[in-house]
Amino acid sequence: MIKNVPLYDSLVQELGDVKVSIREDNLKDYSEDMTEIKGHPPDVVVSASCKEDVLRVVQIARETNTPIIPVIAKTNMGGLSIPSQGGIVLDFKSMNRILEVNKEDLYMVIEPGVTFGDVKEYLDSYHPSLRFAYPLSPPYTSVLANCLLDGLNNLSLRYGPMGDWMNGVEAVLANGDVIKTGSGAFSPNWCSNSPLPDLSGLFLNFHGTTGIVTKLSIRLSPKLKYRKKLFVLGYDVDDTYSLIKRLTRDNLFDDIGGLSWPLGKMLFGVKYPVYKDPEEPLILVFLDLSSSYEKEMSLKIDILNDVLKEYRKKGAHFEDPFDIDVLMKINPEFSKFADLPATLDFLLDHGGGGVTWVGTYGPMSQWEKGIKIGMNILEEMGFPPVMVSRPMSGGHFCVLRFIVLFNKQDPQEVERVRELNLKLCNAVLDLGFIPYKTPPWVIDLMKDRLDPGFRKWVKEIQSLLDPYGIMNPGKWDVS
Ligand SMILES: Cc1cc2nc3c(=O)[nH]c(=O)nc-3n(C[C@H](O)[C@H](O)[C@H](O)COP(=O)(O)OP(=O)(O)OC[C@H]3O[C@@H](n4cnc5c(N)ncnc54)[C@H](O)[C@@H]3O)c2cc1C
Repeated sequence: MIKNVPLYDSLVQELGDVKVSIREDNLKDYSEDMTEIKGHPPDVVVSASCKEDVLRVVQIARETNTPIIPVIAKTNMGGLSIPSQGGIVLDFKSMNRILEVNKEDLYMVIEPGVTFGDVKEYLDSYHPSLRFAYPLSPPYTSVLANCLLDGLNNLSLRYGPMGDWMNGVEAVLANGDVIKTGSGAFSPNWCSNSPLPDLSGLFLNFHGTTGIVTKLSIRLSPKLKYRKKLFVLGYDVDDTYSLIKRLTRDNLFDDIGGLSWPLGKMLFGVKYPVYKDPEEPLILVFLDLSSSYEKEMSLKIDILNDVLKEYRKKGAHFEDPFDIDVLMKINPEFSKFADLPATLDFLLDHGGGGVTWVGTYGPMSQWEKGIKIGMNILEEMGFPPVMVSRPMSGGHFCVLRFIVLFNKQDPQEVERVRELNLKLCNAVLDLGFIPYKTPPWVIDLMKDRLDPGFRKWVKEIQSLLDPYGIMNPGKWDVS
């Protein structure tokens, strides 16, 4: 039975029936993601393949007062691409062209459906001297969505979160206007967001509530000749994070991260472990390095070894650094880490179907405290203390994230996960960590802590750009 006949008819009339679906299984699929967050089935799913499709959908949505929820792979982990109240799911997977790569000015222009896998394949094939920043999310996820969500990728220590990589966007607003931001608003060369007023920020971290982005110009960086990925095992939170902070400030590495012991074990094939032998390491630190010169690379490794010696002299316990090539000989699963993007299937294919996290950016001064509190909460509530951490933007802030795998079909477990996330979230908010890709339930928790002027302006900007309230309503809703 078609629930909303006039909406469906108008969409089919404008776009043709191939691009418009009301199949029950399709609607159900778009009503949930892999988290515990409750969604709502959309009324209809539209597959967009060009800007004109977007303009038609926006016009119909405006005329019928129907929400639009932009979707690509639905892996944001915050319930941000599932409808809060029905509406039109606008799927961008088919709008997936790489429109331009400018090798000299180091940027590329892409459509929303272009994935990390597409970019990697394209650059490796046609521009092997260039590289992009990759997350730990699967290769089928969208680059544009990751940038609009200010993601954390493997060059984020050196060059910042993915919002910093945006040169500009083309966006369709709720009133049907199409605007460009960044240097693309001035000339065909889209190499920079500076020095124009930074209107790209109107679409960054707003989760689709201010407009629909149809093009993105994004930075590329040169691929340096020598690259390495090393691991160091740490046995104590304070010592390990003191080392990570020191290495961050020494500015030798492209990426540094700390993974707690359950993740380390999962990489070795152990399923969601709950037990750690006291002799086993607590944190697996990964270090990515690249250099144009072999000498520079050797020097960086010598410096790392010297720093480790210094720490050992003061009584800290660290194993010698080892190369990922060694790990790959023991367990080929480690090749996933060697060359991103990769599907971390031990997180996704665990049988229960549910994955969720409390993921935050926050002050490095509170890092160790946050790690200890969060890992304790997880253990107290009977979950493995899975934690991911990373310094960002040269050490100006850091990532702190706690991950939980669960059985989506078990309502009691889902409820337990909700309780856990609430507890984790309150604990890290108290320390000044701000949840990224912010789920609606977290916005509710944060609202009263936000500066009143900031809160008022978020609302006013959303109302200005979308007076009809049709752009992904229910997300970043501070009202
Ligand atoms: C195992 C795993 C590991 C991950 N690791 C990382 C990681 O290391 N770093 C990281 O940053 N992320 C990570 N993620 C999160 C996520 O995968 C990425 O952020 C991903 O790039 C999101 O892409 P998506 O295609 O799933 O977007 P979706 O979830 O479909 O959409 C994300 C948001 O963008 C909005 N949106 C989509 N298209 C548009 C548009 N055209 N205009 C305006 N708004 C739009 C949506 O409405 C939604 O709010 C991980 C996820 C998983 C499952």
